[in-house]
Amino acid sequence: MAENTSIQYLKGIGPARAKSFASCGVLTIEDLLYYFPRRYEDRTNFAKISELKSGQIYTIKAQLLTGGQRNSWRRKRFSITEALFYDGTGKLNCVWFNQPYLKEYLKSGVSLILYGKVEIYNGRLQMNNPEFEFLDGEEEGSLNISRIVPVYRLPKGFSQRGLRQAVKSALDEFIPKLGDCLTFDLRARHNFLNLAESLLNIHFPHSLDLQQQAYARLSFEEFFIFQLPLVLRKLRRKEKQGIAHNVSGGLSRAFIAQLPFVLTHAQEKVIAEIKENMASPQAMQRLIQGDVGSGKTVVALAACLLALEGGYQAVIMAPTEILARQHYEKIVTQLSALNFRGSKLRVELLLGQDKNKEKMHQEMAGGKIDLIIGTHALLQEDVVFANLGLVVIDEQHKFGVGQRALLPKKGNNPDILIMTATPIPRTLAITLYGDLDISVIDELPPGRLPVKTLHFTSQQKDQGFAILKHELKNQRQGYIIYPVIEESYALDIAGAKKMFLELQKGEFKDYRLGLIHGRLKQSAQDAVMKKFRNGILDLLISTTILEVGIDIANATCMIIESAERFGLSQLHQLRGRIGRGSLQSYCLLISDAPTEESQARLEAMVLTADGFKIAEEDLKIRGPGEFFGRRQHGLAELRIANPLAQMHLLKSAREEALKILTADPNLADRTHQLLKKKLLRSFPEYEKLVLVG
Ligand code: ADP
Ligand code: MG
Repeated sequence: MAENTSIQYLKGIGPARAKSFASCGVLTIEDLLYYFPRRYEDRTNFAKISELKSGQIYTIKAQLLTGGQRNSWRRKRFSITEALFYDGTGKLNCVWFNQPYLKEYLKSGVSLILYGKVEIYNGRLQMNNPEFEFLDGEEEGSLNISRIVPVYRLPKGFSQRGLRQAVKSALDEFIPKLGDCLTFDLRARHNFLNLAESLLNIHFPHSLDLQQQAYARLSFEEFFIFQLPLVLRKLRRKEKQGIAHNVSGGLSRAFIAQLPFVLTHAQEKVIAEIKENMASPQAMQRLIQGDVGSGKTVVALAACLLALEGGYQAVIMAPTEILARQHYEKIVTQLSALNFRGSKLRVELLLGQDKNKEKMHQEMAGGKIDLIIGTHALLQEDVVFANLGLVVIDEQHKFGVGQRALLPKKGNNPDILIMTATPIPRTLAITLYGDLDISVIDELPPGRLPVKTLHFTSQQKDQGFAILKHELKNQRQGYIIYPVIEESYALDIAGAKKMFLELQKGEFKDYRLGLIHGRLKQSAQDAVMKKFRNGILDLLISTTILEVGIDIANATCMIIESAERFGLSQLHQLRGRIGRGSLQSYCLLISDAPTEESQARLEAMVLTADGFKIAEEDLKIRGPGEFFGRRQHGLAELRIANPLAQMHLLKSAREEALKILTADPNLADRTHQLLKKKLLRSFPEYEKLVLVG
């Protein structure tokens, strides 16, 4: 069978090539069949050199007239390989940078297919760094010419032709033996190609239309496999008995009434959604998405109080000690005026190296503590709750999937609230979190001025410093963020430690500076944060440790050095540390933006303040896999499907998943065996979790 036949079975694939395939995730014949082309070239009609236009991408077929190589006069050890091609209609110059070995291959007279963007250089059209294939002695009607030809991401040691040949052999031999994991009925309902036709046409399309149909069917399949476990988990959850909280008491309402501000409509709406979930006997699993500063903490706290009213305990887990401590301090203040049945609520902070940990563990187990705030120290085995009613996980993307699942196990189906400040478009949220209910806080508290974001080159850095100094002079505070702790000469980037010493003596000698980074002891980090919070420091030099959650309203200016080294969402998170009060804040990005991509990121930061738009832009620039980190979310399973672009397919995949699992929850039916096998191959971990009676 294709799924358990090693790739070495194919002719011409020995141990070395098998190893090279393995590094691209191709171990079996099936893997190879699902190793889809990166793009296609229509080699039925080549562009004519005489008709090329600047700025467009073309595939041409031409003969090499002359070729040569020279070293750049501007930079040492930088070679330029040049070749002139002729196709019967005109001549075109092609140039490759820093690929000196090409010289050996570019012998005059050879025929090549070239693919690349044509641009004007020195008044002539030219292709820079085109991809190419040799065509000597190529027969018409082969895999490589006179058809729509696939172009793959190449494993080491392979040529496009070699790979095409390998795929072709695999298709020839295994297509007749392939079973289709989508049933005939399902395919008929959606008018999908069967698996054999789809694989043939995704690799060697008979037409672009068939390629599109194959693409749709295979994307659907990926969505479907991805949604099945999520939908099943959701169904299972609904069957399980959770806690029906008594939410009619006045504690949560009293808390909201005594806040120094009025809740936004969005906050109220989300609290109402939570309340309904918590009152029902089904366990809640709700994701709260909200931009930085949208006020998620208050919402979580209101939920905690709903649990506390009925005599349950609640727990909030944050990803860093700084953040846990900040939550704790804030929550203690916000609850200080509140009485519960004649006494104060007991709130405690649990961190990794607490001296009275033992005592706290006992009190938690004895039900003496109402609300516990902590880090992943909460996950340790000796942490036991008397009656855990609600679990809140803040900044969930900072925790692994496994970590997230551990805390609720310490109770008896407690309700779960998951909070994220990396808002993502709804379709993507469903793709990833399809087993959760989703709430969105889509409104910021009133009176917030949007942060002014400016981009300076490293030469204009003084202008940035001037703005920062102006803020500091007016008794405001600021941050300067560096991408690394120690400077790197190799990459030519400054580090926080050295710059702290430099700035303290030089540029900012009139101000009180603090340094914070992840290699400082926890106690030292806390001490620095405390000083900054209390206004004893004016300026904090920091790494991205500040990224998550920090909330200090008097900080109005942030300089981000080497800003090109940060991802877009990360920049937005960093920027979220300022503009948290009613004062005008400034985010100053220092970068020479060396690549087009970094240019696009910085531009997006300058133009948009909305986290949802930022996330969408980031997704566009990087693609979903990179955006989330592939491994964590199993997004690697989405090789071609794109939730942003194929929303309707995602939707029908979800509907079909619900339909099939409602009718046959264990996929026991004979017609579902291929699907079940495929599902377990993609998500082996779900065997225990999901496919049990
Ligand atoms: P995030 O959603 O980024 O976690 P926080 O919960 O830290 O945001 O809230 C940001 C700040 O806004 C806090 O200082 C909080 O007290 C304040 N805040 C929350 N809700 C409101 C509101 N409705 N009106 C005014 N300020 C609010
Ligand atoms: Mg927060």
